[in-house]
Amino acid sequence: MWQGDAQSQVVVDLDAIRANVATLRSHTTAQVMAVVKGDGYGHGMVPAARAALSGGATWLGVCTLEEAFGLRDAGLTAPVLSWLWLPGQPVGRAIERDVDLSVASLSQLAAVLAGAREAGRAARLHLKIDTGLSRGGATAQEWPQLVEAAAKAQADGYAEIVGVWSHFVYADAPGHETIDLQLAGFTDALGVALRLGVEPQLRHIANSAATLTRPDTHFDLVRPGIAVYGLSPVEDPAIRASLRPAMTARARVLLAKRLPAGQGISYGHTYVTERESTVALVPLGYADGVPRHASNSGPVLLNGARYTVAGRVCMDQFVVDAGDAPVAEGDEVILFGPGDRGEPTADDWAEAVGTINYEIVTRFGSSRVPRVYR
Ligand code: PLP
Repeated sequence: MWQGDAQSQVVVDLDAIRANVATLRSHTTAQVMAVVKGDGYGHGMVPAARAALSGGATWLGVCTLEEAFGLRDAGLTAPVLSWLWLPGQPVGRAIERDVDLSVASLSQLAAVLAGAREAGRAARLHLKIDTGLSRGGATAQEWPQLVEAAAKAQADGYAEIVGVWSHFVYADAPGHETIDLQLAGFTDALGVALRLGVEPQLRHIANSAATLTRPDTHFDLVRPGIAVYGLSPVEDPAIRASLRPAMTARARVLLAKRLPAGQGISYGHTYVTERESTVALVPLGYADGVPRHASNSGPVLLNGARYTVAGRVCMDQFVVDAGDAPVAEGDEVILFGPGDRGEPTADDWAEAVGTINYEIVTRFGSSRVPRVYR
């Protein structure tokens, strides 16, 4: 299992990603856009994208143009949508490289049209309507003008309006009243577009939570991210059980030693041994993605037993108090994984440190810890 001399590893199970996409597909007849931004939520953008496509995804979703170029550089030819870019960035190159672009304002549209002229071909657009998240997207007031301008660009041959899209505020709470309000706003925006002669091929608004719990939000395409990686965006135990977490974070004990009772551990001595104990030094710290908030709360599995981080998490290391259990240098410490060997999960870590599972895997996977695939 351990390759070479690594002292820590993030192991990514690509079969789990394939299986999770297949599970998502079983919830919908819409196309699936696997969201692979943030380095594939820490799982590695390109391998995650390949696995998702082989599981049945037909689209890839990213945030930045650089991420989109990374997919193209790797030889991936599936349609890609990029939704956070600045006018002034290489929009023409994105159009040349078949990257679909989200457009939410007249100035973004102008930048795309300039890019289309530079590339000598029509830009593929997904017009974004803000239905209540108040993040990206045109407001309902701005929408008719944006659609009209995009329709004119389409008639002039500079643009193709491929999609109309939006994003939920509260999809992780399936019955939340904002979902229906946003759906109504989205339907209104589609109606306005239709009246202006724009009928997009792809209408999309659903993330993982909506894909798994609200079929009425699926339209033509769904955009799951976290569920692709096997983590549930909702509490529902059946949904959680239907997904396979793809990431395991683990390390090997670097040093084991006996300490007397009453000994303070790590910076600030926020943990003190209650009795003579064997402590294990784990070579992972906040530079590797272990949140500092995991001090005295992060769970681990060491030689079949669960422990909690003892004392402060440092930049490169933390300590586990194993009491009288035998511990040797080189023993495996699992921080989180699918949970099938008794190890904590990313959900356990999220709960221990007061964050969401998204942040746990994204931080670990995008750190200096070597990633291996199986
Ligand atoms: N669509 C957009 C615009 C996003 O920003 C994200 C992620 O934050 C997703 C889809 C995927 O969301 P989730 O990971 O909750 O499925």
